[in-house]
Amino acid sequence: MIDKDRIKTATASIIEAIGQDLSTENIKDTPQRVADMYAELFSGLDIDPKVELATGFEEGHHEMVILKDIPFYSMCEHHLLPFYGVAHVGYRNNCQASPTPGKNDKADC
Ligand SMILES: [Zn+2]
Repeated sequence: MIDKDRIKTATASIIEAIGQDLSTENIKDTPQRVADMYAELFSGLDIDPKVELATGFEEGHHEMVILKDIPFYSMCEHHLLPFYGVAHVGYRNNCQASPTPGKNDKADC
């Protein structure tokens, strides 16, 4: 659950801490904009990936399937900055996803 009021208050505090005037026309709505943006950017935190990946199918073969260049967008947990890239995954017919050999199994910055 995203607490937009807390994000709005925290953003206002950061703006004041860097010496900017919250009452100026260009900045006065920034805390609300940041709260709205964070609610959207972090909306995936409440989604269970097992539910998202629950759909499967039977193809009757056992070769590894490789999916390449899957775009992703995320937020750095160390700096709260957005980053993006592409991921590659491989899986076998038993529907258990596994990292592509030789690649990292998670995205990070
Ligand atoms: Zn970072």
